[in-house]
Amino acid sequence: MKLIFFSSKSYDKDSFESIKSEFDHELTFLESALTKKTAVLAKGHDAVCTFVNDHLDRETLEELANVGIKAVLLRCAGFNQVDLPAAKELGIHVARVPAYSPQAVAEHAVAMILTLNRKTHKAYNRVREGNFSLERLTGFNLYGKVVGVIGLGKIGVAFAAIMNGFGCRVIAYDPVTNAAPEYIKLTSIDEVLTSSDIISIHCPLTDETRHLINKDNLQKMKPGAMLINTSRGAVICTKDVIHSLKIGHLGYLGIDVYEQEEKLFFRDLSESVIDDDMILRLMSFPNVLVTAHQAFFTTEALHEIAATTLQNAADIGEGAANANCLV
Ligand code: NAD
Repeated sequence: MKLIFFSSKSYDKDSFESIKSEFDHELTFLESALTKKTAVLAKGHDAVCTFVNDHLDRETLEELANVGIKAVLLRCAGFNQVDLPAAKELGIHVARVPAYSPQAVAEHAVAMILTLNRKTHKAYNRVREGNFSLERLTGFNLYGKVVGVIGLGKIGVAFAAIMNGFGCRVIAYDPVTNAAPEYIKLTSIDEVLTSSDIISIHCPLTDETRHLINKDNLQKMKPGAMLINTSRGAVICTKDVIHSLKIGHLGYLGIDVYEQEEKLFFRDLSESVIDDDMILRLMSFPNVLVTAHQAFFTTEALHEIAATTLQNAADIGEGAANANCLV
């Protein structure tokens, strides 16, 4: 197959090129994001390979169909950005990488908890400037704390296992799952919100989960609790979370995803004027940690993403059954 990559970075090129010889595909890498306007660049190829912030709405899919694209290969797990019914109507296959490394994302969520709690990022800077004071670096023991998981799928379970290892009591809300390892108590969303010292979000973005963390649900959380989001930005209402931080109710916020991340993340904007006032407000809080959608970003995960994506392309090309195909 002839594959054209949108939103590709040096690390994408490196990981795909390193295993290219195992497959019979031709790969072209573009830095531009996929939009209705850039879809025409796919002309002459069989499939597009896209990432989390590429647009795959009906109009873009129509443009892709017009230039002969037969498949969309998502090099990610989430597929909230794709209009699947439109793809089906247009005869475009859509495949994803459902489980390239749940541990990579789970471990990043834990890294965010430890950073926010024990303030190692602040200690690192202080010590380098000759400031060996411990003032304002107090953390809390994780041992014995209640950790709430929203979405007990592959990443949620991997995360829960680590927190169980710390000696936390793990409770979880998942409207679909009714089986969980014995150390996790499945419960209601209200119990997760009201009893947890730390809440970590691992559900997909859907109509039901959009702005699940809003003013009402933030009010139900324990004063001083920690909220971690490595799922999708829009599960949290940014405006409401800023309000909760301002009034001192939410104790800590760690986000690897952000509702308006599309114009910011995966870019070096260090010499630019950032005109997104909400991210600037978030970054001004001492108890907020933002990372730019890097939870997936390990060597193992990049290898798995490349191998699965190229296998998805091969299967679609040969008409073979593939459980990663959504359409
Ligand atoms: P998964 O499908 O294995 O698990 C998702 C779980 O959420 C399922 O058990 C499902 O039943 C549950 N769920 C569905 N609706 C829910 C609701 N309304 N409330 C609570 N739970 C609900 O998916 P996964 O592999 O664990 O990934 C979870 C999400 O993490 C993905 O959808 C993706 O958006 C995100 N993700 C982020 C990164 C990153 O780099 N930050 C990387 C990979 C995945």
